[in-house]
Amino acid sequence: MPPGGVGSRASAMATLRGLAHERFVDPQVGGLLEELEARDLDPESDDGALVRVTRRDYDHSVKIPAELVAEAARASTEARPVWQLAREDSDWKLFAPYLDRNVDINRRIADALGYAERPYDALLDRSEPGMTTRQLDALFGRLREAIVPLVHEIGRRQDAVDDSCLWGDWDERAQLDFGMQVVTRFGFDSERGRQDLSAHPFSSGLGAGDVRITTRVSRRSVSQAMFGTMHESGHAMYTQGHAPEFDGTPLWGGASPGVHESQSRLWENLVGRSRPMWRYFLGPLRQAFPGRLDGVDEETFYRAVNKVYPSLIRVEADEVTYNLHILLRFEIENDLLDRELKAADVPEAWNAKVEQYLGIKVPDDTQGALQDIHWSGISFGGFPGYTLGNVIGAQLMETVREAIPDLDDQIAAGEFGSLHGWLKEKVWRHGRKFTPGELLHRITGRSLEAEPWIRYVQQKFAEIYDLDLAAPRQH
Ligand code: ZN
Repeated sequence: MPPGGVGSRASAMATLRGLAHERFVDPQVGGLLEELEARDLDPESDDGALVRVTRRDYDHSVKIPAELVAEAARASTEARPVWQLAREDSDWKLFAPYLDRNVDINRRIADALGYAERPYDALLDRSEPGMTTRQLDALFGRLREAIVPLVHEIGRRQDAVDDSCLWGDWDERAQLDFGMQVVTRFGFDSERGRQDLSAHPFSSGLGAGDVRITTRVSRRSVSQAMFGTMHESGHAMYTQGHAPEFDGTPLWGGASPGVHESQSRLWENLVGRSRPMWRYFLGPLRQAFPGRLDGVDEETFYRAVNKVYPSLIRVEADEVTYNLHILLRFEIENDLLDRELKAADVPEAWNAKVEQYLGIKVPDDTQGALQDIHWSGISFGGFPGYTLGNVIGAQLMETVREAIPDLDDQIAAGEFGSLHGWLKEKVWRHGRKFTPGELLHRITGRSLEAEPWIRYVQQKFAEIYDLDLAAPRQH
């Protein structure tokens, strides 16, 4: 679509959404659901799940009054350009009243949906069905305890990893081709998908036969496009892996944004930034860029793609520090919704948390509280999905390793079929049939837990940075 098409596309989409919403909330649909619910369908069956998931969507859609939906849409449309200006000039005061209004609308949405303990529960339940603020509080608490000291230890050993081999001048066409070579090997089906360029990478699934990914390429660094493509391929393979009979039904789609992110992070990090990955792919990478990696061995390359930089910007964060960026947004969103914090005071709270968690100072709000687009919109409760993705991915991977004991050997040989098949069977196929909690329990026999991810990062980064985590230094 040309850039000039944005307006027409937006109004066409708004019309379609409005019509779909209007038809869906028709009381007749509620009556049909009641009729089906009376039939006591097997909850494990596709039909049972279809009724359950449609009921959840229906209840959410009818509970929020149409005027509130319209008001929310208007508020986002108005706040977006103000946020852009404020971000350019690092002018929080300009944006603060719009954030206050968005908080207020989020609260009214939460009130309309209903919640047991905190307004955040309602918003969270909409994106991550079954998850509660209390559960996330405990999860983030464990992560904070484990990551903050790890980040400080790594900070003392910054020079231990040299990533200069990733920088320089990298042919853009060759980067795109190499990315496709990698994800095709992973199992991305290019008969039912394609890759294009965009300013921000994303994946979109129009249906079983058309699942697209986009990539952003930088001439200066080989890693951005490469890991971005692996990430998006994880989302895309999830969509390509849904049971074909779910296509066009409410069961089409991922279990939640968090589960979706678990698939993208799994391929990007747990596979893409692993040692066996580069045992296999360093050769093809050298062939794709003749002469660029002479004298760079597998170990140097593996360490380079895992360098930890405590940074101000979430989207540039490495595997270790990423969750801290989410944690501080989760805490601030909750304080805003609980009315313990006013929008005007957000930068102060933000900067204090960045210093406490990451050990760095925020020079201006452009690199602080104004960096993300999310708060110019209405959808609070979305940020935790990123951390849930990391945590769920690691928890699934422990179970994968039990099921496929020689996984590392397979990856080192460029064989991804068993992993692809396992994920398709256990996760992708089910679409929206199960909630994130149900899915995780079915697969791992356990509820969501932080420990697998903590074990994974501690082990990996203690080795890379030569840290003795068993005997932490006294601060
Ligand atoms: Zn993603």
